[in-house]
Formats: sequence, C-alpha cells, structure tokens
Amino acid sequence: MDTSEVKTDAAELRHCRRCFLYEMDGQETSYQSVVRLRQAMPAAEKADDAEYDRRLSVCRECPYLDNATCMQCGCYAEVRALKRTARCPVKHW
Ligand code: SF4
Repeated sequence: MDTSEVKTDAAELRHCRRCFLYEMDGQETSYQSVVRLRQAMPAAEKADDAEYDRRLSVCRECPYLDNATCMQCGCYAEVRALKRTARCPVKHW
C-alpha cells in the first residue's frame, strides 16, 4: 500500500508528513531530510553556515553524541544545530 498519501475523507487527500523514521523506510535518508529541512528553513530563522559548522564541530567532540544523536536532548545533532536561536542543552554552544 502506498503510504505517501493518507485519504482523510472522500473529497480530501492529505500529504503524509512521515512523522516517524519507520515511515521513511525506503525513502529519503535521515541526512537527506536534514538537508531538505535546512534548505527550506527561512534564512532569518536558521544559523548561518559558519555558525552551523561551528556547532557541529563542537558536537563532534562531545561525549553525549552517539549515532548522530545528542543523548542530552534526543535530537539529531544536525537538526538541533539548525535554528539560529537553538542552544545546546548543556551549553556547549
Ligand atoms: S547539542 Fe550539546 S550536548 Fe548535544 S551533542 Fe551537541 S554539544 Fe553535545
């Protein structure tokens, strides 16, 4: 069954937002999703490239990073670092 669209009633088709990773199986990778999310985020909301890279370089050395996930907040580090106003949960950046 194609799960890319969920029929909510006879007149309306709603796009599936793929709320969970298991719903993405066989589709874009988690990394591709992050890239797409970063590209779609308004410039005023996202950390600029230098700040994003700086944050990820800190995460790379952090003992809480495991399997691309921040074990303090449960986010993918590459998602956690996206927003300009985001903060590291233990104040590393
Ligand atoms: S967000 Fe903070 S706590 Fe989480 S992995 Fe990055 S530096 Fe570590």
